[in-house]
Amino acid sequence: SKKAIIIGSGIAGLAAAIRLIHKGFEVSVFEANSYPGGKLSEIIINGYRFDAGPSLFTLPEQMEELFLLSGKDPKKYFDYIKLPVACHYFWEDGKHIKTWADINKFADEVETKLGEPAENIRKALRKSSYIYDHLAPLFMHRSLHKFGTWTNKEALKSYLKMGKLGIFSTMHKTNSRNFDHPKLVQLFNRYATYNGSNPYETPATLNIIPHLEFNIGAFFPKKGMHDITLSLYRLAQELGAKFNFNSKVEEILVEQGKAVGVMVNGQKILGDLIVNNMDMVNAYKTILRKQKQPTKLLDQPKSSSALIFYWGIKKVFPELDLHNILFSDNYKEEFDHIFHHRSIYHDPTVYINITSVYKPDDAPKGCMNWFTMINVPNNQGQNWDKLILEARRFIIQKVNRILKTDIESLIEVEEILEPRTIESKTSSANGALYGNSSNNKYAAFLRHANFSSQIKNLYFCGGSVHPGGGIPLCLLSAKIMSEMIAE
Ligand code: FAD
Repeated sequence: SKKAIIIGSGIAGLAAAIRLIHKGFEVSVFEANSYPGGKLSEIIINGYRFDAGPSLFTLPEQMEELFLLSGKDPKKYFDYIKLPVACHYFWEDGKHIKTWADINKFADEVETKLGEPAENIRKALRKSSYIYDHLAPLFMHRSLHKFGTWTNKEALKSYLKMGKLGIFSTMHKTNSRNFDHPKLVQLFNRYATYNGSNPYETPATLNIIPHLEFNIGAFFPKKGMHDITLSLYRLAQELGAKFNFNSKVEEILVEQGKAVGVMVNGQKILGDLIVNNMDMVNAYKTILRKQKQPTKLLDQPKSSSALIFYWGIKKVFPELDLHNILFSDNYKEEFDHIFHHRSIYHDPTVYINITSVYKPDDAPKGCMNWFTMINVPNNQGQNWDKLILEARRFIIQKVNRILKTDIESLIEVEEILEPRTIESKTSSANGALYGNSSNNKYAAFLRHANFSSQIKNLYFCGGSVHPGGGIPLCLLSAKIMSEMIAE
């Protein structure tokens, strides 16, 4: 049978391995790290377990499809629950709101606590699902780089509705029209950060995201986010994929316009099909350095990055949920700092993810595992050592003010992940979380395709290529890619 070589075992690389086996390929995966999963890994320190990267799980059917495709019962490999509350939001003035999965309950809470008409919520979420229904078939499930995508009926219908789909407005402008209360504008603006963008610049089309969280749901894998990696890895192995860890690919070998193999640890390995799951920008700089560079695509602005403090906290805060947000008092200033000053803001929005709320064995008894994160600019050579120290102080002050505590005295374990280490651990260009940012209306068209137009037999999947970053889109990138190969 034909041989496929996959470079990288990120979530899309794992999905690609599974899908290519179903296409009849013999699959070998080469991974630079000693473990699979890339950004989706875990950290264990002194009785505390943390999911290292992604914390929010949406569109579980993308995962399940991979098991069903293999004739397996997904529940036997990977189980999850639907969250009754997607997130608990806190503000400095003492107000707090839960985004209940039950939309009417959420709308009522918003009306009672903030005086925002409940109908505004329902209306905004209907608009959000309208965008999803019109754009998902076009942008998420297909290649934008094949002629057929643009000549079908769905595409024509979508063109006619571009205005209604928010292409010509920004997320912030549209949210300001949708809601009366500034706190709700802020809450809905936050969805821009789900792909590392700026709500004051990103097109209102990204209001598609609340549809996923509210209308479909936010989920939590019963064994933690890392189980997404582990269960796909297990399935791929059972199907016969061969994994090579500590095996950094040094070059994709190209002969007469055709990818023919890879160089790993000075050894030539030949294959009929090469799939690159490494960040696209860094791939062109390193393993494709001898090939023609798609300069325009490489130069696109990158998404934001993150600064995370993994804190073992020796106390239980009953008011905290799995996902919590302590909002900045000035969201606009915060985003200006991230995207324009390329620095951090003294009053950052703090995200606290606590898996021990649902998975008690992730922390010792009477304790919580806090994944405490702020959005930060991607790495442009800032003085990170200084910024991290400052940010740590700002975060601690914010937590103390809102939760009325002295959090520093409760931290018994600490580990840090920041833009430089995100890049060194996963090869993500500038430590960006989601590849390119979506801060303009052309961004969707300026992601690299799932195939190379220059080099035959070379394909791409992962968060830095079409359709974009985040677990569901990464899984879809592997699907779009493998469907092309069938063609
Ligand atoms: P990556 O995870 O980028 O992995 C690429 C792999 O390729 C790595 O294992 C790397 O070692 C390997 N590699 C690179 N170069 C080579 C080489 N030369 N040879 C061999 N192997 C190589 N998404 C969500 O959906 N929800 C969230 O809540 C969320 N939060 C996030 C929070 C953080 C802190 C981070 C970092 C990301 C977050 N994301 C979230 C984004 C999500 O993690 C990514 O979009 C996704 O995991 C990327 O998967 P990928 O397939 O592109 O591969």
